[in-house]
Amino acid sequence: MSLNFKDFIKYVEKRNPNEPEFLQAVTEVAEDLIPYINEKHPDWNALRVLERIAEPERVVSFRVTWLDDNNEVQINRGYRVQMNSAIGPYKGGLRFSPTVNLSILKFLAFEQVFKNSLTGIPLGGGKGGSDFDPKGKSDMEIMRFCQSFMTELYRHIGAETDVPAGDIGVGEREVGFLFGQYKRIQNNFTGVLTGKGKYWGGSYIRPEATGYGLLYFVQCILENADMNIAGKAVAISGAGNVAYYAAEKTMRLGGKVITLSNSSGTLHDPEGFSPEKLSFVKSLGRDLAKYTEKYHAAAFYTDRKPWHFECDIALPCATQNELDESDAQRLVENGCICVAEGANMPSTAEAIKVFHNSKIYFAPGKAANAGGVAVSGLEMSQNWIGQQWNTDKVDSRLKAIMENIHKTCLKYGKEADGYINYLKGANIGGFIKVASAMVSQGL
Ligand code: GLU
Repeated sequence: MSLNFKDFIKYVEKRNPNEPEFLQAVTEVAEDLIPYINEKHPDWNALRVLERIAEPERVVSFRVTWLDDNNEVQINRGYRVQMNSAIGPYKGGLRFSPTVNLSILKFLAFEQVFKNSLTGIPLGGGKGGSDFDPKGKSDMEIMRFCQSFMTELYRHIGAETDVPAGDIGVGEREVGFLFGQYKRIQNNFTGVLTGKGKYWGGSYIRPEATGYGLLYFVQCILENADMNIAGKAVAISGAGNVAYYAAEKTMRLGGKVITLSNSSGTLHDPEGFSPEKLSFVKSLGRDLAKYTEKYHAAAFYTDRKPWHFECDIALPCATQNELDESDAQRLVENGCICVAEGANMPSTAEAIKVFHNSKIYFAPGKAANAGGVAVSGLEMSQNWIGQQWNTDKVDSRLKAIMENIHKTCLKYGKEADGYINYLKGANIGGFIKVASAMVSQGL
């Protein structure tokens, strides 16, 4: 029995109306998986494995009420999408942003299933969050919101059930408030969340992990093509946790970081950022334009994306669909050799087609940014055994995990002409384990 791509997409669309991001993520995977399943595992079609993977095991939605600093009642909506637990407890971050909706969380949870499988650590996939906007909120408002959020979420999660972490809008501060509330309610100190602080159950290298892992992956891609990062111009988008540590590692490996960005615009420094300049960027918060007052060669553009500038390597580290077809064309025309996603699904489907048609290396987020959740997995391991590993140990394990993911991508993504289709490699490599586990565990 073979599965038809168009019928499958129609089926998913009908079951998930008005969820464009989720449909985009499923389509991206199905394009590679359907031919693979039809050829290698046609028996899985009768078991409807792909249809089942595209259906969350559980979705919870809850009301979050909290008091702002004016003692006024505020209402937000909280969610947890428990997508797949075939190979381990649900694992994935929480996103706090006014853009959050079910389509976005389902796409993120779906991606997380494949990403977590690729890490080689037994982790299922999930994602959650809220439409709460942390921008402009006081510390106490953030705390009260996190506490109310956890007062609802706690009954759905647990160290052996579902282990959330951070994502956009959720960092160590928020994980702290969430963890504190969970501990108060449950009266136990467990690894129920990752991304914890280093003095209270967190792992060394977790803050750096996504950015560092991204660069380890880029190193693998370049080495495999007999190149290296030294001297390469690297355009990075974003100015958050992922972008920051990606920039830091790029510089350490001898690359030249030429851009950073946020939702107001792009900061371009043609002389390249240095570690000092990067710390200065951090101190500026959202006001990136201020950088140009100190470093005059740089410019801040409200109307240009990082992809406007000539670079060898592009690292989208901001958010979904931030790099479209025309951006991709511009990158290719400017001689870019490699695009690796630090964010989740930052390239549109059309942009990916441009990369593939031009045969430039394209590493999807589910492979390239898996370092974050991989070190979350290592944090869980440390919590289980009641130990804390040192920086070197965690960093070398992170590197080994990224190298392994690269190997998996080569195994399943190498095409007849020698081009490596990393998306195909990651999709198939991530899928096999989850699908086999689902089949073994029955309906
Ligand atoms: N939010 C991160 C991701 O997209 C990390 C998730 C985690 O550590 O659980 O993979």
